[in-house]
Amino acid sequence: MFRKTKKEEKRKKYGVLGNALFMLREAKENLPSVIWFAVLDGLIAVAVSVIELYVAPSILKELETHGTLSGLLYTILFFTVSITTASAVQAYVRQNMRFGRIELRDHIVTQVRYKMSTSSYPLRERQEFINLLAKAHDALNDNNKASEAIWTTFTGFVQNILGFAIYLYLLKRVDPVVILVTVTTAVLGYLVNYGANEWNYRHREEEEEICKCVMYVQDEAQNRYLAKDIRIFGMREWLCGLHEKYMRLYLDFCGRRERRYFAADLTDLILGILRNGIAYFYLLYMVLGGKIGAAQFLLYFAAVSGFTTWISGIMENVSTLHRQGLELEAVREFLDYGELFCMEEGIPLRQEPGKAYTIELRDVSFRYSGSGTEPSKEVFSHLDLTICPGEKLAVVGLNGAGKTTLVKLICGFYDPDEGEVLLNGVNIKVYNRRDYYRLISGVFQEFSVIASTIAVNVAQDARKIDMEKVIDCVEKAGLKKKIESLPGKYGTKLDRYVFPEAVELSGGELQRLMIARLLYKDSPIVVLDEPTAALDPIAESDIYQKYNELTEGKSAIFISHRLASTRFCDRILLIEDGRIAEEGTHEELLANGKRYMELFEMQSRYYQETKPC
Ligand code: ADP
Repeated sequence: MFRKTKKEEKRKKYGVLGNALFMLREAKENLPSVIWFAVLDGLIAVAVSVIELYVAPSILKELETHGTLSGLLYTILFFTVSITTASAVQAYVRQNMRFGRIELRDHIVTQVRYKMSTSSYPLRERQEFINLLAKAHDALNDNNKASEAIWTTFTGFVQNILGFAIYLYLLKRVDPVVILVTVTTAVLGYLVNYGANEWNYRHREEEEEICKCVMYVQDEAQNRYLAKDIRIFGMREWLCGLHEKYMRLYLDFCGRRERRYFAADLTDLILGILRNGIAYFYLLYMVLGGKIGAAQFLLYFAAVSGFTTWISGIMENVSTLHRQGLELEAVREFLDYGELFCMEEGIPLRQEPGKAYTIELRDVSFRYSGSGTEPSKEVFSHLDLTICPGEKLAVVGLNGAGKTTLVKLICGFYDPDEGEVLLNGVNIKVYNRRDYYRLISGVFQEFSVIASTIAVNVAQDARKIDMEKVIDCVEKAGLKKKIESLPGKYGTKLDRYVFPEAVELSGGELQRLMIARLLYKDSPIVVLDEPTAALDPIAESDIYQKYNELTEGKSAIFISHRLASTRFCDRILLIEDGRIAEEGTHEELLANGKRYMELFEMQSRYYQETKPC
């Protein structure tokens, strides 16, 4: 099932530059202003730095040359107005560019969500896909958001490269040895810091792993559903012990990290003192030799310090772009991840009212992907099965026999490893899988309740709800009395986690709601995987009574543990050892006197023996 296709194996490699270009392309196609704002921000930042660089030397020069007071005031006024104006424009640009960046990030988040909710079902169980999704979320989330921060890196490039060029020009009169010392110490300082950051980046997963454990213990300790167990089984001390253990691991990790940062900061500081000391003595020597005045001394000294900032800035930008590129790579890999089914393409399959559908499993073999290197056991081996239009088919068997897997193969959630699933004689692989899903409706063991109204939960669509149909389906599912007794009736909200005023339906009521949802969809093929597991025996019997009525005219596949319920079906399959062990009507299977009869008698005995006195 999880073997990769040739198409998938040819996974693209994205370079750092490619990832940066991806963001630029996204911006160019969707919000070009984001690019212009990033460039503008960089240009203004350089302009502010250059103006600031000249403030003190210019004023000193006025004083040195004994200029007029008005001349001095004009100089101060010029710098004040220039810096204020440039800073105001910069603040305006920064404020406005934030919205564009958020919008662009949101645009990419939407693409990731679309892929996540529409990708082939087995991918949701593939660890590689799950990891990529987590990494993509990481690159797009509010805290980390490489997708927004990358624009600051682009701005940094504009700012640092331009600043470097301007300062290099300014320092053309300074001895090249001083420039060389400045560049060398800046590069060394950067490399030491880079080492510490790299260590942090390389150990990100270790930190995440520890944090995950800490969070897990904290969440579980607060989990409402675990509150009973914690009290009854005295789990508090055990949970506290676990929490302490993981916190110790976390503090140890932080200690190792901080020691590296401390060493890097100390080295950087020593290099800074060395650089500034050499520059200071050299420039002082020039002043004393009468080669430059005090104003130029100030200008050059500030320029040497600033020069260092541009150099380390450029290197920092390169490494940040590399890191952000790697993070964004996960987004691109996720978005480009090869589909296993025809999700977008494939032959369209329109639902035609009254059309008869035959489903056939021909020589089907299937196994789940194993854990690690261990291949898992084959669930089905060379299975043949035909479900005729309108047939009511029951699938029974012990736990783990493969009933749910069979249903998933029929529904097209998995493709067989060998053999075919055919719809009216055509392999379902050739059809658009989403169109195929439209033919099927179901109640599965794990069902989803949307935090919305009851009506929306039945219609599965908030925009267009046929209320008459909702009421009809709810009535058929036996939930009308309950819903109409609620103050909000069909507009009652579900899910207290989102809506404090929501009602909480019991397990059985939710299952009835799922049956109403199935009926609303009105598809020609229905699947019921233990649809009554949470119902009491009376409710269960009520649903079974209606079972034929509920699924009238539809092909229905019905899984149940309770063999008594299967008697309503046209045909019963007993699944055992990856094959159909027995097949026939309830009466035929009982008359056979084999495994089905044995299981049926065991269950009947159990129910009789456990009858309430
Ligand atoms: P049943 O519905 O009859 O109880 P299932 O179809 O759920 O049985 O499971 C059949 C076998 O496949 C079992 O051995 C089960 O452990 C295994 N299995 C089910 N789902 C998965 C899965 N997602 N990944 C790996 N193995 C699975």
